[in-house]
Amino acid sequence: MRAVDLIIKKRDKLELSKEEIQFFINEYTKGSIPDYQASAWAMAVMLNGMTHREITDLTLAMAASGEILDFTGVVDVVIDKHSTGGVGDKTSLVVLPLVVACGVPVGKMSGRGLGFTGGTLDKMESIPGFNIYLTKAKFIQQLSEVGMVLAGQTGDLAPADGKLYALRDVTGTVPSLPLIASSIMCKKIAAGAQRIVLDVKTGLGAFMQSVDEAKDLAKMMVEIARLADRRAAALISDMNQPLGNTIGNALEVREALETLQGNGPYDLTEHALEVASYMVNMSDKTNKVVEAREKVEQVLENGKAWEYFRRLVEVQGGDVSYVDNPEKLPKAKLIETVPAPRSGYLTQVHARIIGEMAVVLGAGRLEKNQAIDHAVGIEVHHKVGDKVEKDQPLFTIHADKEDDHDEVRQALLEAHQWSDEPVKPLPLFYDVVTDEQ
Ligand code: URA
Repeated sequence: MRAVDLIIKKRDKLELSKEEIQFFINEYTKGSIPDYQASAWAMAVMLNGMTHREITDLTLAMAASGEILDFTGVVDVVIDKHSTGGVGDKTSLVVLPLVVACGVPVGKMSGRGLGFTGGTLDKMESIPGFNIYLTKAKFIQQLSEVGMVLAGQTGDLAPADGKLYALRDVTGTVPSLPLIASSIMCKKIAAGAQRIVLDVKTGLGAFMQSVDEAKDLAKMMVEIARLADRRAAALISDMNQPLGNTIGNALEVREALETLQGNGPYDLTEHALEVASYMVNMSDKTNKVVEAREKVEQVLENGKAWEYFRRLVEVQGGDVSYVDNPEKLPKAKLIETVPAPRSGYLTQVHARIIGEMAVVLGAGRLEKNQAIDHAVGIEVHHKVGDKVEKDQPLFTIHADKEDDHDEVRQALLEAHQWSDEPVKPLPLFYDVVTDEQ
């Protein structure tokens, strides 16, 4: 087999066989196929697409390029969730304890933030001592004994995806649905997931700008799961405005803790309850999502979910006094609340601009391995549809350096758009895609 023939085949809109896809991925991972051929191939896929069968074979070939974890025997059903990334998205911090408190063990491998989107690991590291670097043996031991793990990737999972993703990033081939779907799903499959709840974000602060595109991606991933003998359900959720009111690591941990104590903002609470309900239902604990929802609401109300979060922090070496007294979490030196410049109804609270400004403040990184500042970030005080009076607090900047302030304040004012007429609030979810459809 020659790489050039597979590029030509994809260029001419022909279907690649499983063997051809495996050959391409194996040889590329080994370094026998050079980047220039892989770039041409990725561009041909981006322009001409792939069938569901090809995408599934690509997913499985990338998953098989490294270690594939297997937690059968450790837990009854290996269930996982994945968000396509967003601004203020601290869902995992709330969802995991909710699900575990319902009797469903979850061992989650999370990522760091990149670009304007935040990452669960960075958030958890706002709690002093919390260790995200677990060995595979410790991961399995904790999953079996505590039923809950939140850690960075253990083992060498899907190295083909790491290589291909870096190449796509610099060759204009990131926004290809087959390449995104296979990239996300190969990591979930390599991490051992049998059932997966996908939170596919759409809007100004998401990869998928339109609901239709997000739905196409969701359908593709649910179908990959089915063809790969797994199960998936995908919730299409809004990412036009940030989720919850806080953006920035320690601020988001504080908000997650408030939510676990029943005092969180409506959108985050509702979003987390819904994602958790799908996970609990998929684990076969219930027959319907509404039944799962009752259980999930119960463990939120009776404090069991909060106790699981506290236990998670404790077993992974974190200082639980920060969970008990969230005011101890890192605080920025300069805190400025900016008032609304006018009265009116909010038509836009632009998630992407807010995420980018959080990065300017130091909450995220522009380059891999850059150090981040856990204390800094942004609080938004209103959502789309809210009626706001002039001079009411609009947003609060938490900064550590004075020189960041002017640019951030100006951009955040522009992120808020207004109307004199009433505006409908944004929905939290647009649709659900399941394998039963
Ligand atoms: N997230 C991934 O893991 N891969 C993509 O291609 C896009 C988002």
